[in-house]
Amino acid sequence: MSMKSTSSVPPRDSERATENQPFSPNSVNKTSRIKGATEVPSVCPYCAVGCGQMIYVKGGKIIDIAGNPESPINAGTLCPKGANTFQLNVNPHRITHVLYRAPFSTYWERRSLDWAMDRIAHLTMEAREEGFVENRDGHLLNHVTNMMSLGGATMDNEENYLIKKLFNGGLGVVPIENQARI
Ligand code: SF4
Repeated sequence: MSMKSTSSVPPRDSERATENQPFSPNSVNKTSRIKGATEVPSVCPYCAVGCGQMIYVKGGKIIDIAGNPESPINAGTLCPKGANTFQLNVNPHRITHVLYRAPFSTYWERRSLDWAMDRIAHLTMEAREEGFVENRDGHLLNHVTNMMSLGGATMDNEENYLIKKLFNGGLGVVPIENQARI
């Protein structure tokens, strides 16, 4: 059986376009920014769908995160939340310190993380003590009536697991909701 010579294969549209149109040296020298990057297969941290992701690393830094085409779950696609994983991790606009606005204040103050954690713990316990119901009509309840937990879209599976454990099992808070399905 004879093999077809590659010279008989007609040029692809993109090759024809390159032949027929002038390109600036800048355009010719452009390459994908992920060219030469190390590909690290991973899993989207956000929900139990477990879409496969590909993390692109260059010089020890993450330069992009995209859907993994090899994944049987998502075949290279990601939902809008998963598609923004890179911007969540690498974002110069991300605020990395505590900002506090006192009641009725018109400006934000910078505070330490220790101060914020102490204040949150204190207010949480104060509210719980006010709203805790141990028994009603002879029935043991052990629940809190004045608190709930509403999770943010950027929380991952592990954070949501810990929130469920702390708020529900630890504090007795019943309404717990978040975007991720765990
Ligand atoms: S958040 Fe979106 S991309 Fe991530 S696992 Fe869930 S469905 Fe997939």
